[in-house]
Amino acid sequence: MKPFAHLEKEIQEWKAAGTFRPLTEIESEQGARVVIRGKEVVQLSSNNYLGLTNHPRLKKAALEAVEQYGAGTGSVRTIAGTFSMHEQFEKRLAQFKHTEAALVFQSGFTSNVGVVASILTDEDVVISDELNHASIIDGIRLTKAKRRIYRHNDMDDLEKALKETQDSRVRLVVTDGVFSMDGDIAPLPQIVELCEKYDALVMVDDAHASGVLGKNGRGTVDHYGLHGRVHIQVGTLSKAIGVLGGYVAGAQVLRDYLIHRARPFLFSTSHPPAVTAACNAALDVLLEEPELIDRLWENTRFFKEGLNKLGFDTAGSETPITPVIVGDDALAMKLSDELFERGVYAQGIVYPTVPKGKARIRTIVTASHTKEDLQFCLDAFEQAAKKLGIL
Ligand SMILES: *Cc1c(COP(=O)(O)O)cnc(C)c1O
Repeated sequence: MKPFAHLEKEIQEWKAAGTFRPLTEIESEQGARVVIRGKEVVQLSSNNYLGLTNHPRLKKAALEAVEQYGAGTGSVRTIAGTFSMHEQFEKRLAQFKHTEAALVFQSGFTSNVGVVASILTDEDVVISDELNHASIIDGIRLTKAKRRIYRHNDMDDLEKALKETQDSRVRLVVTDGVFSMDGDIAPLPQIVELCEKYDALVMVDDAHASGVLGKNGRGTVDHYGLHGRVHIQVGTLSKAIGVLGGYVAGAQVLRDYLIHRARPFLFSTSHPPAVTAACNAALDVLLEEPELIDRLWENTRFFKEGLNKLGFDTAGSETPITPVIVGDDALAMKLSDELFERGVYAQGIVYPTVPKGKARIRTIVTASHTKEDLQFCLDAFEQAAKKLGIL
């Protein structure tokens, strides 16, 4: 038998379709400009919204933590891997989010899986937006609760789901705060009102909203003024915060429960000191350098307007995530290649990350880009798209 013949067959199909991609190596720090294949290009594909991946305060905090506490923690949180800095950071994070408590997981992905898979039983129902992140979907795959998917941001369909499930013990409604592939914001006020009417729990995944929306980047709950009305806020420390990790912010009883039952928390080692210290420094930056968030939004407006003026379809995005819809998978990859030739790194996103026929270049501007960087990108988009007959 030839091992992996079944995988090779599929890979050949991807190659024929033009969607097989080696991983792109970054040969420099992550920043507004990066070095790829020996060439300096403008980075338009990172989640480094505020430029914190290489902020001096984060680097310094990480280095000092290594000096004082070492490179690793040597255990899971529940056995011997909880350091004082973990607990202190979580207390600060809870204060920042205006919640009773917060708990950090290894990543945003494991936060979602940990929560959704652990807090429900077969007497319950999870009700989820169809465009929610893969980690929410995987959490749902692991729960014993019944599932109900509602059409994207469709409040009538959500209400229908809430009406149909009134016999169950607990209903958990889950939504992304900002949808990661389209950049639209969930109608959280309406979701909260419906959940209050039908007595359901609300969970929002603010991976792309933490550090981006709300005062000092507190997220969608703050953005909409809904403090105290959203039961579970998940966030990531890997995107705007610039480091690595995820967290769950909410009631103390939720934190107590997750510590005992969330499997990624129980069975995977805690964050190294450098990670926690850098995240803590990032919170200082959010509180003390709010001009970074202002600059992010200024750049967002400039770039989005530029793309729309050129005639690109940006799918109604309302946030720094700005998709440029191309449609065909192979064409999106070609556009990405043409952009690279012109000094811009903007990765094509194709099926299965987005639906078939909705292939796109997903751009994310950051606070670190200059107006010149962004105008350079707009010019590259115009030339490349004209060459390929997209414009
Ligand atoms: C990126 C993302 C995650 C995962 O966060 P990581 O910290 O990178 O694991 C979860 N949810 C959404 C909506 C995301 O965009």
